[in-house]
Order: sequence, then structure tokens, then C-alpha cells
Amino acid sequence: MDSDILVSRTRTTTAKGATGHLTIDLAALGRNYRKLVSMLAPVRAGAVVKADAYGLGAERVAATLYGEGCRHFFVAQFVEAVRLRPTLAHDAQIFVLNGLQPGNEIAGAERGIVPVVNSLAQWRQWSATARMLKRCLPAVLQFDTGMSRLGFPREERAELAAALGDGSNVEILFIMSHLASADDMESDQNGEQLAEMSRIADEFPGLDMSFANSGGVFLGDAYHGVLARPGIALYGGAPNNGEANPMEPVVSLDVAVVQTRTVPAGTKVGYGGAHVTQREMRLATIAAGYADGLPRTLSDRGAVYVNGIRLPIVGRVSMDSVTVDVSALPEGTLTLGSLVEVLGPNQTLEDIAGDAGTISYEILTALGDRYDRQYR
Ligand SMILES: *Cc1c(COP(=O)(O)O)cnc(C)c1O
Repeated sequence: MDSDILVSRTRTTTAKGATGHLTIDLAALGRNYRKLVSMLAPVRAGAVVKADAYGLGAERVAATLYGEGCRHFFVAQFVEAVRLRPTLAHDAQIFVLNGLQPGNEIAGAERGIVPVVNSLAQWRQWSATARMLKRCLPAVLQFDTGMSRLGFPREERAELAAALGDGSNVEILFIMSHLASADDMESDQNGEQLAEMSRIADEFPGLDMSFANSGGVFLGDAYHGVLARPGIALYGGAPNNGEANPMEPVVSLDVAVVQTRTVPAGTKVGYGGAHVTQREMRLATIAAGYADGLPRTLSDRGAVYVNGIRLPIVGRVSMDSVTVDVSALPEGTLTLGSLVEVLGPNQTLEDIAGDAGTISYEILTALGDRYDRQYR
């Protein structure tokens, strides 16, 4: 309650020239990290900062988490690692989950970037690079335990084990796998993947293991290995569906009003005239659309909030704007430049994702760059 009051008091109510304010609460990010650290101890918590830290800004996010003691940072693509590497101290390691595309090995080795090796093809490239540079290069090995996306499939394990024995100049830092259904605590797939991972640990003895994503952290100690890889939970998303969200919100979004009008019953609103008003309606058009990360599937479904009052989206979401029904507000509440809440105390990431028929991850990573971004 207290924190809600704090949030509403510090919330700006006018746009001050911006189309919207995207606020990223780095202190809340730090508290979310500390919460995971305390749940995991003595297991370490890394951080997944791929896709620009789920849209929140990889550099700011990684610097904040480094300050909290995080030293293991996971990105998906090599280009993300190249951008992040110079911003972090040398004792921070950056892992590329997708591994390296042919041609990136030398640049990766020179920058001290650690690839996640997913296949025999990637293994051969990385160990050939190590031989050529006459250096020992670090790597992580990823195994497929049931997702069929990335990692050594079962059929490649024997050949990999033989290659590891041949003194390949590659130092394996740890092995890892990824859970496909950790967001569903009841899913049988969690236990199936854990069983497969322990078979792999037996086949590759003496190597540390990384397994849990955000959802996996909450599945219990058996899933923790020595290093967890949370992403969404750091950014305030719910780690497990259908459970209370234990994480603190990190992102809030307020969007500016561009124009208001009153229309009679029977008026078409938006593209395709898809919405026809059933009654007289006061409308406000706000300055964010699908190009700013409000999915088009929110057409005639989602809502925004002002003073805790729900204002439904009317008609289709446009590229740069959305029209909302503000009839529930006292007349004159909203004028040019007023702000409406899209993400905040009244609407969580999961709320808007649910209305849009998607997941919190997609909402975060789609947030556009036309907002005024403020880091707190
Ligand atoms: C994205 C990703 C994570 C983080 O997942 P969250 O559900 O956001 O915690 C961890 N590991 C791998 C391999 C990933 O691709």
C-alpha cells in the first residue's frame, strides 16, 4: 500500500512534450536480483540480458546488476555481446546463448566472449579457432533435454565426449540446458528434463551445471545447479503462471493524450470502422500504437487507466495511436498532453499481455524507442 502511494505521488501527470514516459526502476531491478540471490544461495544468480535486457536497456541493466554482484551475463546473439563487452569490467563474463555464427570466432576470442556451444558443428569451429590461435578458449556446452531448440541432441553426446577427451584447447566452464515449461509448475516436462539433465551430468562428470531460468528458480533446489539464469523475473514479470507474482514491477508506462472528442451513438471509430459506438461516448486518442509496442490484438480488448479508472480501448490499435473510451472520467479530466497509465499500479505486464493474447516477454521486448525513457 505504502509503495503504491509513493508510486502515484511520484508519477508525472503531464507529458512535458514526450509521447509517453517509460520509467525503468533500477532500484526495483536490484531488489528483484537480491531476492533471487537469497532464494538461490549458495547457488549463484546470473542474469539474462538478451534482446537489450528484454527491451529495458542492456547497458543500464547490466551495470546495475554488476553493482549487485552479478558476474554472469547471458545474451542471445554475438552482436549483443560485442556491444555489452566494453561496458562491463573484466571480471564479468558474457555468454552467447545461440553460440557463434561461422566467421565470428576470432572476434569473439579476441574480446573474451564465451560462446555457448550447441552442436558438433559449433564445437569444431571453436576448437579449430583455439588450435589456430594456440590458446585455450572458454566455452559452455548446452544440451537439449527435451525442447528441441538448441543444444547437443542425444545422438551427438558420444562423439562430443570423445572429442572432449582429445585435449582440444577448449576449457568447459559449465554445462547447461533450458527448461521448456518452467512457467508451469505442474508440467511433467520439468521432471522429464531434470531426469535427462542428471543422465547428462553422469556422462560428463566433474562439470558444473546451469539449468534454471526464472521459473526454474521457483521449482526447487534440484533445478538450481551452480548458476541460475533468470531473465523475466528480474524485470518484474511473473516467473510462474497462475501463481502470485513475487517480483516487484520494474517498468511503468504512461502515454500522452493527443486529442479528445465526444461522439454520438452510431459513430465509427478507427480503421475499418470496426467499432460503432452504442451510445454517446467521450473519446481520447493517445500517442502510442503498435509501433510503440501496444499489440494490435488489443483492438477493442485492452484498456488504459486514469486515477484507477479503467478506460477501454475502442476500435483498432493504429500504428501510432490508440483511441480509448474516457466516458467514465469527469468531463475535462483529460486534455492535450495529459498522461494515461498503460503499465503501472493498475495494470501489470501480465494484465496487458493477457488482453493481447501474448506473454509479458513480448510486451517488454516490443516497447518502442519513441518514449521518453527515465531510469530511476
Ligand atoms: C531467455 C533464456 C533464459 C531466461 O528465461 P526467463 O524465462 O526470462 O527467466 C534462460 N536461459 C536461456 C537459455 C534462455 O534462452
